[in-house]
Amino acid sequence: MLVWDDGLKIRGNGLYRDLYLDSRQPRPLSFVSHAHSDHLGLHEQTIATPETSALAEYRIGLQRVIQLTYYQDFPIEDAVLELRPAGHVIGSAMMHYRGDGGSLLYTGDFKLRPCLTTICADPRPADFLCMECTYGQPFFKFPDAKLVAEEMVERVRAAMRENRQPIVLGYTLGKAQEITKILIDAGFNVTLHGAVFNMHCLYEKHGTALGAVRKYVWADFHGERQVDLKERGVLVAPPYVARTPFVTSFEKPLTIMMTGWAMLKGANYRYGVDHVLPLSDHADFDELMELIDRVQPKKIFTHHGPRSFAEILRAKGFDAQPAHPDPQLSLFE
Ligand SMILES: [Zn+2]
Repeated sequence: MLVWDDGLKIRGNGLYRDLYLDSRQPRPLSFVSHAHSDHLGLHEQTIATPETSALAEYRIGLQRVIQLTYYQDFPIEDAVLELRPAGHVIGSAMMHYRGDGGSLLYTGDFKLRPCLTTICADPRPADFLCMECTYGQPFFKFPDAKLVAEEMVERVRAAMRENRQPIVLGYTLGKAQEITKILIDAGFNVTLHGAVFNMHCLYEKHGTALGAVRKYVWADFHGERQVDLKERGVLVAPPYVARTPFVTSFEKPLTIMMTGWAMLKGANYRYGVDHVLPLSDHADFDELMELIDRVQPKKIFTHHGPRSFAEILRAKGFDAQPAHPDPQLSLFE
């Protein structure tokens, strides 16, 4: 049923089409768990939530989407699908599939910790579990997100006192909205880089209130008519601007990158920023284990992470293997 064929798919039975899972290649039919670009492809037909559908149309012009809301039973081919919240970014979904061969939960990217800007994950038990494991190594244990947020706010406050421009960096979809919400709730004015601003508007359009922001304009930050630092506030931007004039044009900016990879030594040098703080949209190691406990699968396939995670699971007594072994090798029938 679940096979690796230059991408993960649930195999049709001859009469029915294959259902790909987060394929990046164009396919006749694919489930798209969320709108991060490493999960998107221009498919003939796509299954996704309404929010993911809107974001995918904005990002790559994806159309012809079967839009499913969470918890809605949907018959497809000879099976029944249900999408469940994944707690990763707006509209992110896990897919629960019930067919003749049993039930499968495909997680896409997820986290189990509470989320400020989207619905909490709600995995459903299944016979087979195909899970992402980005942080599938035991030393990835994130600190309490509230403490991380407080540290970010403190560093921003200190920069403001020293009259330095604070710039907080995070992925355009998901992380930037989390950062924006934390900063607005802490009482700061916030100005968004154009790409982040567009995503902010899409979040608000789909019912996630984040608060009033400014859109970045060069003249507000530079030259004779620049706006006062307190009024223009904190800049929120994507990670890729770290070494560009967007940042380097300021005399003494204070840059903070928010990412789970902050747990690795030297991450601030690698990202070219003053500080990195571990705020992540992915599950840490303990959450990966908690997911398995909640799903109670007979067999586990690991995906989007270190292959060693499957070894760790086997050492703990689980039947586990990476989801992409040899091409065309059937994972379960
Ligand atoms: Zn993602």
